[in-house]
Amino acid sequence: MTGTLAIIGAGPKAVAVAAKAAVLRDMGVAVPDVVAVERSAVAANWQPAGGWTDGNHRLGTGPEKDVGFPYRSSLVPRRNGELDERMMRYSWQSYLVATGQFAEWIDRGRPAPAHRKWAQYLKWVADNVNMNVLRGEVTSIGVDGRRWALGTDGTTIRADAVMVTGPGQPERSILPGNPRVLSIAEFWHRAAAHERISAERVVVIGGGETAAAILNELFAHRVSTITVISPQVTLFTRGEGFFENTLFSDPTHWSGLTLAERKDAIARTDRGVFSARVQDALLADDRIRHLRGRVAHAVARDEQIRLTLHSDRAGESLETVHGFDLVIDGSGADALWFTELFNQDALDLIELGLGGPMTGERLQESVGYDLAVSHLTPKLFLPNLSGLNQGPGFPNLSCLGLLSDRVLGAELTDNHDRASRRSYEHQPLR
Ligand SMILES: Cc1cc2nc3c(=O)[nH]c(=O)nc-3n(C[C@H](O)[C@H](O)[C@H](O)COP(=O)(O)OP(=O)(O)OC[C@H]3O[C@@H](n4cnc5c(N)ncnc54)[C@H](O)[C@@H]3O)c2cc1C
Repeated sequence: MTGTLAIIGAGPKAVAVAAKAAVLRDMGVAVPDVVAVERSAVAANWQPAGGWTDGNHRLGTGPEKDVGFPYRSSLVPRRNGELDERMMRYSWQSYLVATGQFAEWIDRGRPAPAHRKWAQYLKWVADNVNMNVLRGEVTSIGVDGRRWALGTDGTTIRADAVMVTGPGQPERSILPGNPRVLSIAEFWHRAAAHERISAERVVVIGGGETAAAILNELFAHRVSTITVISPQVTLFTRGEGFFENTLFSDPTHWSGLTLAERKDAIARTDRGVFSARVQDALLADDRIRHLRGRVAHAVARDEQIRLTLHSDRAGESLETVHGFDLVIDGSGADALWFTELFNQDALDLIELGLGGPMTGERLQESVGYDLAVSHLTPKLFLPNLSGLNQGPGFPNLSCLGLLSDRVLGAELTDNHDRASRRSYEHQPLR
């Protein structure tokens, strides 16, 4: 029996799952039909059109962490070696060899590729595995009997399981329409058009990977001071040593940690931290400073944008107001962006599975071994919310090969959660 797995967004996660499904099918193993529903293009968020980059900034993780990494499949007893070997045909290095770029990349010291190049790699994989990509923006998720029904402009796509990917919409802005306030997408569109930003006091709201990329670009513009606002005590550097990296590539022991230990590890290595490369640039540039707090609201006054900030000092809540000439709202990434898509029937079903109203916390804590919400049929795979329960590498590019194993190893049409590790290892693929 096979089913249909619909993936919202044709980014690296969708490409990784589609590639492994294609390889398994070639090996004669039954797999679901994988269809990606994409509003723009394969790997859109790594190109200017997606609104998250101008395409010229460099990948933070090594490109060898590609769609098959870490090449340690455990899906097909006695044939996992063959599976990994076949997946290597879609590796970063195979792409470079196939496109005549391998020797140059080695001779240049294996540089991190620009986002645009990474997008070209993903597109190459998608083309080579004949990935099924339907063009359309998913605007609603409902239920149709025992299947999901994804609503796009004019079409409904029915699927036995859905996987949600991507960080949300980059068009969000704290003061939409004000020319002194830029959303992430507006900022990158300007950068891609080589428009020079010229302002005295610039502020970037947000302390994560998105804000880091924005800062990296801002260094090259005519700005006198750049303030970064984030709720953290300071701008932490991401731990990128062997032990930290291992947590991302190999989640074997992750679920054995306590909740407090897992939260601590994520705080040190992932959420709101800047990579060592960006931190080096920050240290060297004396225009940068950090302001701790959460932006409560913004008003335009006297040719400035005034931001009201809430912060805690020694247990007391403080409210302060700061004026800036230009605000870049880098806080648009939202792992819960898809929750607005569910209609009432879908919401009722999910809340039944969750045992209460749908909150970010409940969703995260419900994610099972197969990266889907436990006790919910049809399956809803939420890799971007699986970091806390399953391992910090699943929401990003750190272990796409493991992600595809877990998703394709799930029982798509089962009516109760059988995705424990044991059943996963012994059930045939659906
Ligand atoms: C600037 C930046 C740099 C990053 N660098 C790294 C890095 O170096 N290493 C790393 O591990 N992680 C990095 N990340 C984190 C990154 O988001 C994830 O690692 C990875 O891209 C997530 O892949 P994905 O497949 O979930 O989504 P994405 O690549 O974000 O793809 C999502 C896709 O969904 C589409 N889409 C969105 N909404 C809809 C809809 N309603 N209907 C249909 N399609 C839709 C989009 O067009 C897009 O193509 C970075 C993030 C950003 C923003």
